[in-house]
Amino acid sequence: MPAHDPQATPADELSQARRLLNRVFGYDDFRHHQGEIISTLLAGGDALVLMPTGGGKSLCYQLPALLREGVGVVVSPLIALMQDQVDALRQLGLRAAFLNSTLDAETVHATEQALLRGELDLLYVAPERLLGERMLSLLERARIALFAIDEAHCVSQWGHDFRREYQQLSVLHQRFPAVPRIALTATADQRTRQEIIDQLQLQEAAVFVNSFDRPNIRYTISDAPNPRERLWRFLEQEHPRDAGIVYCLSRKKVESVAEWLTARGREALPYHAGLSDGLRRHHQQRFLREEGLIVVATIAFGMGIDKPDVRFVAHLNLPKSLEAYYQETGRAGRDGLPADAWLAYGLQDVITLRQMTQDTDATEDFKRSAHQKLEAMLGLCELTSCRRQALLAYFGETLEAPCGNCDNCLQPPQTWDATEAARKALSCVYRSGQRFGVNYVIELLTGKDDERIRRNGHHRLSTFGIGRELNAVEWRVLFRQLLAQGYLDTDLEGHGTLRLTARARLLLRGEIELHLRRLRRPERGARERRGRTVLALGEAEQALFEALRSRRRALAEAQGVPPYIIFHDSTLAEMAQRRPTSLGEMAGIPGIGETKLNRFGKAFIEVIREHPG
Ligand code: ADP
Ligand code: ZN
Repeated sequence: MPAHDPQATPADELSQARRLLNRVFGYDDFRHHQGEIISTLLAGGDALVLMPTGGGKSLCYQLPALLREGVGVVVSPLIALMQDQVDALRQLGLRAAFLNSTLDAETVHATEQALLRGELDLLYVAPERLLGERMLSLLERARIALFAIDEAHCVSQWGHDFRREYQQLSVLHQRFPAVPRIALTATADQRTRQEIIDQLQLQEAAVFVNSFDRPNIRYTISDAPNPRERLWRFLEQEHPRDAGIVYCLSRKKVESVAEWLTARGREALPYHAGLSDGLRRHHQQRFLREEGLIVVATIAFGMGIDKPDVRFVAHLNLPKSLEAYYQETGRAGRDGLPADAWLAYGLQDVITLRQMTQDTDATEDFKRSAHQKLEAMLGLCELTSCRRQALLAYFGETLEAPCGNCDNCLQPPQTWDATEAARKALSCVYRSGQRFGVNYVIELLTGKDDERIRRNGHHRLSTFGIGRELNAVEWRVLFRQLLAQGYLDTDLEGHGTLRLTARARLLLRGEIELHLRRLRRPERGARERRGRTVLALGEAEQALFEALRSRRRALAEAQGVPPYIIFHDSTLAEMAQRRPTSLGEMAGIPGIGETKLNRFGKAFIEVIREHPG
């Protein structure tokens, strides 16, 4: 690799970086702030990079590691992915290796020797390994181009990816003051950003904040009944053969949803903390290596799933904050092609999560913050305007116009005047003494002939049977909306007993009106089918694309790597459209650098020749 030339001007350096981008990675130009970030590191400065998933963070340290003398040391908590990351770099013709607890002594020794001899471009290291005195003194004897601290939000005690070792990484600054450092994360919130700067001593670093918009992700959130059936219809209509993730709250639900999907004919693997390490790893591996698999998981699954072609992320439970929702949905569509974030939620979610925020032994401050986060999440769900605008606004970003790629933009929801119905619901809660849960109150409203009601004498209440115009399902939706919008609250003991809030009184006194989303929204099936194929290929192109994919699968299997490490779908789609039949033409396809061209170009040209257009 070209060594760094101390005489070069910043502009020279950047054009050198661009040539390398083209030759090694096969891309024409930098994206977002990549160019500036690379310049910063080449000039010896530190950088903090906040970029959404799929934004292109890795190039920000890979290119300067190649251009500066010595090895780029990448700190990453994602041990399970290191092998794939290193394989991907080797496919590009780079000299990469990793050190973590999974290696045998011999491999460790060989890697250490390669490090000392200056034979590595990039070295991935687990944080606990890096912090050992042995590793640190080894690094002192090597030439280091830079330190990259990936998934830097792991320093944050507040996030669920917290890693204690990350808090000790400031030692890098102390022991290697002259080596530039770059910290990277896809976490968007302000507090985490500040924690990274403080904990890693990055006060001097240039900060690059990218837009957190993921325009290729379509957001859809619905409260209609029968979430499982709707999930099935969504999979059938939109993603019959695509890979994706379905998130559930509990292990039990993960298991049952995975079984249910499998029974209906979709291969679905469970993933949660209750499974053995071995089985979890196996399921993750299959998800990465095979095409079209679904993983049904708790939030234990996901950090660093850098599979680029996850086409959908579905939630069968409400995430507990917008941060979590953004992070989890962000695993869809890293490759920039269209992807879906689909969420179904219901009354029980709201009650369960409310109680979870109250039940913990945490401090009052923590509970209040958890409660506010849940409220913000519910706000997004009940919204009748553009979801993307609201989501980005929460992270401090302004999107000028509605996005046109969320459910509310595509199919504006209807609202109805729910003032009268809400008053009935609230007075029914009040008249029965604020001692009952949703189901009981709905029975009162609909005037159900019930033993318990008669025993309580509640059939004589003035509110008994005043709500027959709505059925039980519709009342449940209304109660959920009342809970979500803070007109009702549940007791702190966890019995689900409904209580009025101060806000409810305004409504009961007729001081405010309430307009809500229509209880039942028309189902997607009712409107014109999207029939959106991800890549918008014609019929002949589609056939060629499938043939290219199967060649890719064979090559990937032969080498024991995930297919996307050979080429991304977007690269194969370009091939199917442009039909290059010489290596020269092939070189012009995005995502094909020199090494991959030499390695795979012929094999794919063969497939193209076999499929005349
Ligand atoms: P992140 O780590 O930010 O989630 P990656 O580094 O994995 O993102 O990059 C996401 C995808 O974008 C990868 O497929 C990568 O090859 C591609 N990519 C990155 N930079 C560029 C670029 N300048 N031009 C084209 N594609 C790029
Ligand atoms: Zn929108």
